Amino acid sequence: MPPSAPSFILGFVLMEPVAWAAHRYLMHGPLWRLHRAHHQPGREGPQLNDLFGLLFASVAITLFVLGAAPGAEPLWWAGAGVTAYGAVYALVHDGLIHGRFGLRPLAARGPMRRIVQAHRLHHARATKEGCVAFGLLWPGDVKAMARKLRKSR
Ligand SMILES: [Zn+2]
Ligand SMILES: [Zn+2]
Repeated sequence: MPPSAPSFILGFVLMEPVAWAAHRYLMHGPLWRLHRAHHQPGREGPQLNDLFGLLFASVAITLFVLGAAPGAEPLWWAGAGVTAYGAVYALVHDGLIHGRFGLRPLAARGPMRRIVQAHRLHHARATKEGCVAFGLLWPGDVKAMARKLRKSR
């Protein structure tokens, strides 16, 4: 394994809880105004919600800047991991789940089944409150989330 690999992997893996927390507490919190359009029909075109890409890019940019210092290469590679997570997120969430970028939305089967199901549960509500499944690549317990959603109806 190249010495850069652990930082890259850490940057990638840690972005899932970071994205979960930002989605749960910022997008469905004080920044709901920007995220709301993503919970309305017609999600294919540009949307205010896309601005969150800049927020996550700023995390990567900070790591690249800090990682440019001598001896701080691991931070640079963590930034590369964060960037890779962003690319995978855009492909899976925007492309494969929501059918943006001219892609066809994935059916909820195959190896991506739980990821698609969980995100569909997230979109079961168009409201700031009462949503489930704020993560993406690590969907968690989909059945438990479906139960929670039913109970809060
Ligand atoms: Zn949401
Ligand atoms: Zn979505």
